[in-house]
Amino acid sequence: MPRRTWVAFVPNFGTPLLVALLCSACLYGQEQRPVVGVAGISHESASFNPAKTRLEDFGDRASGRELEFLKEAELANTTVSGYVAGAKQYGLDLRPLVVAGASPKGPVTDDAFNTLAERILTGLKKMPKLDGVLLALHGAMVVESYPSGDLELVRRVRQTVGAKLPVIVTHDFHANVDPEISNYCDVLITYKENPHIDPKERGVQAAKIMAGMISGKVKPVQAIVKPPMMYNIVFQHTRTPPLKPIVDESRRLEQNPKILAVSVSGGYQYADVPQMGPSVIVVTDNDKDLAQTEAKRLSDMLWATRDQIRLNLPDAAQAVRQAMASDKAPVVLIDMGDNIGGGSSGDSTFLLEELLKQKAQGWVMVIADREAVKTAFEAGIGKTVEMNVGGKTDNLHGRPVLVRGRVKSMHEGKYTETEIRHGGGRYYNMGHTAVIEVEGSTRELPNLLLVTTARSSPNSLHQLISNGVYPTRQKIIVVKGAIAPRAAYEPIAGLMLGVDTPGVTAVNPARFPYKHVRRPLFGLD
Ligand SMILES: [Zn+2]
Repeated sequence: MPRRTWVAFVPNFGTPLLVALLCSACLYGQEQRPVVGVAGISHESASFNPAKTRLEDFGDRASGRELEFLKEAELANTTVSGYVAGAKQYGLDLRPLVVAGASPKGPVTDDAFNTLAERILTGLKKMPKLDGVLLALHGAMVVESYPSGDLELVRRVRQTVGAKLPVIVTHDFHANVDPEISNYCDVLITYKENPHIDPKERGVQAAKIMAGMISGKVKPVQAIVKPPMMYNIVFQHTRTPPLKPIVDESRRLEQNPKILAVSVSGGYQYADVPQMGPSVIVVTDNDKDLAQTEAKRLSDMLWATRDQIRLNLPDAAQAVRQAMASDKAPVVLIDMGDNIGGGSSGDSTFLLEELLKQKAQGWVMVIADREAVKTAFEAGIGKTVEMNVGGKTDNLHGRPVLVRGRVKSMHEGKYTETEIRHGGGRYYNMGHTAVIEVEGSTRELPNLLLVTTARSSPNSLHQLISNGVYPTRQKIIVVKGAIAPRAAYEPIAGLMLGVDTPGVTAVNPARFPYKHVRRPLFGLD
């Protein structure tokens, strides 16, 4: 059947369909390649964050601009980048539908989830030819009515495309996998690395298995095993023990030609859902026993690390003292209670308060505070400002702190990452940004506060560099994250220090009233 107007079938939000008149053969060349739909709703939802994630929080990177989307994906290092690279390598014809994502925040509203899911399902139904579906999902999405939004989406997709069509799902390392998902997808793959530097590799892996399934060369079966534990985010660095040997083992197993994919996900502790916690997923070529045996063995390896994952971190006051006394520079203080990538407010002031109180010098910190940006922009470059900064989003992240300083510079707030860093992204935007040189600064050791209009995870040094701040010249750098910032900051840090700050992403689970997790869980009980 001629596929002249496939673009027109894509759910669309008012973008003129300029490309609809071109035939797909002109756009894609080979008519014969298997057609694979690409879709996703990506969200990491923190149950204890009162701010719900609504439809307007989601950007849809694909709809209405499919060709541009594929080209951009080629430049980045995301899962979809891997789908694109894999499709080229293994001869698949990708058709992006809705590929939506929102920054981590509270649970997704039913309205947002149902609307986006319906767009995906409608798009799939309208495709004249469909040989498989690749779903890029985060794996820790909580929806008002569904503890696992990911499971519900995959269930609906399966219902739509029928029992036989290959459906392959990729998840983030922080996925809270509900084992029931294996009833609805043929293959589930999660990132192996945290910081996430392998999404593209996983995307290629998914595309390869997809091509193998379509051609009938492989028949994947999978087993999912979850140890009864919470794996605290503090210990979820996959380049160091205790996780490194387990991740190494997952890679080693993939050398076995009968094994198609082995995933060890760390889980996301801020989701109060039954499936919260780590998972092992082993996908074999039609060998259920092998999948089950190896998944159980790796799950036992996770369980055996219990003694190595007990929490012992300094609080804000101790951490600032330690950073000031250190002869290593820069000291990167990781504000774990305000882990933006994990869904927090980005305006926590516990460390700012200590830096000012202890008269630290040469520090830099980013705080999302729209009002402060407005004040600084209205004052103008070189002008003195005195304003209350941060602690305004909720009552979990400290109180507003009085800051006196001078507006050093003002910026648009867009920056580009050229290296492979956490998540593999390339283009970032933290909104209008003012750099305030806070009192107590010297020429050699300026105290720099960046106020921004949007929250932006500190996954890239360019968040600072693009605003004229040289990270290596600062003595103390505060980053609001957990493990993710390590990919960017470890190469330049003298010392990286996790801080047990309060907040919506506090690493101490005793701070949260869990109700829905399965119990008992090691690390929580
Ligand atoms: Zn993650």
